Amino acid sequence: MGVRDRIRLTTIEKVIERKLSTSKESNPYENAMKQLESTASIIKLDPDVHEMLRYPKRILSVSLPVRMDNGHVKNFQGYRVQFNDARGPFKGGIRYHPNVTLDEVKALATWMTWKCSVVDIPYGGAKGGVICDPKNMSMAEKEAVTRRYTAMIADFIGPYRDVPAPDVYTDSQTMSWILDTYSQIKGYQVPEVVTGKPIALGGSEGRNNSTARGCIICAREAAKELNIPLKGATAAIQGYGNAGSWSAVFLQELGVKVVAASDSSGAIYSKNGLDSAQTLRHKEKTGSVKGLQGTEEIDAEKLLELDVDILIPAALENSITADNAGNVKAKIISEAANGPTTPEADKVLERNKVLVVPDILANAGGVTVSYLEWVQNLNRQHWAEEQVNAQLEQKMVSAFNAAYQTSKKYNVAMRSGALAIAIQRVADAIKLLGIWP
Ligand code: GLU
Repeated sequence: MGVRDRIRLTTIEKVIERKLSTSKESNPYENAMKQLESTASIIKLDPDVHEMLRYPKRILSVSLPVRMDNGHVKNFQGYRVQFNDARGPFKGGIRYHPNVTLDEVKALATWMTWKCSVVDIPYGGAKGGVICDPKNMSMAEKEAVTRRYTAMIADFIGPYRDVPAPDVYTDSQTMSWILDTYSQIKGYQVPEVVTGKPIALGGSEGRNNSTARGCIICAREAAKELNIPLKGATAAIQGYGNAGSWSAVFLQELGVKVVAASDSSGAIYSKNGLDSAQTLRHKEKTGSVKGLQGTEEIDAEKLLELDVDILIPAALENSITADNAGNVKAKIISEAANGPTTPEADKVLERNKVLVVPDILANAGGVTVSYLEWVQNLNRQHWAEEQVNAQLEQKMVSAFNAAYQTSKKYNVAMRSGALAIAIQRVADAIKLLGIWP
């Protein structure tokens, strides 16, 4: 074998090795259970409660036949996983994505349970998912999938039972269709069955950008703890959907220079900083951040490894893994996405003293304002945006401080601090409720 062949072989081996090690870390439900495991030992969780928390309370799997625009029927697979409702009605978004799996939805439902608990709102956790590719579906097809999905889960949701909301590739229009379908079945209007609605249908002021607002409040508090001045600090944002693009706006407001951004089609960089409004306009016009004037294209993987102060992962799960965590140079990571960091990557980041504000806290702004929306709906009220944002600010800052202090108390990473508080609260509720029969 020649030298060239040998080099080629080692490269192929490395790629295979990398693929294998990433897939080992990439089952989100296993990752969620690993987090439960390690938190259980920190808080000395009652083994009986631990046993109950290993399994979602209810899993719904539904088939959704839809007549497509071409006249033929296509079947879509949908899920709703209700993980735990000891602290209140199930709560969580619905995701439309071609890579949705049951294990992913189970993990997301678990994380919703911890998320609602860590910000202390009276909800349990759930999540929904439909395997579909909304980017290649017409409005009519998306509406048909949404209405059929709603009809199939209608007996299991409700204002006091399970309250869905938007997630990846679903939005306020999706919520409007769910609201209408559910209300038609009931025979009366039930706005409080979903959150993340348009204002015209009882949605809350401030809900649209609340995930990002909460995420950047966390980044700001983290910077305070590390004595990093935000004026002139730099940031990179992975994912430029709702959470990513609004994060750019709020970072810019704080004087932070967002030097890089990416989406599913690529990544861009400018050392002078990207203007958030211009970047969004370009993305809306062309469908991607790529090609924005005055920027250079960079490798999307490299975005995570840029020499910036703040990194905002705002895409999907498993972005930061054991393979690239060691190359992360950011001092603060505020996780707008759910599950962007694997437990193996967490260990590396902790060793390297990167302050990771975990997803269940950093992206809890969305569900916090969902809760405020639901409270307004149940009381037939509509609050001013200032009132909503003031409550969000207060809830986020106090949850941040509690998680930060708890991490110091146990001498663990902030993720473990947040999980410790969240899981303890759920465990206390489970114990008080007991088991029936
Ligand atoms: N999908 C969002 C999340 O993952 C929002 C959930 C909600 O508002 O219920 O937190």
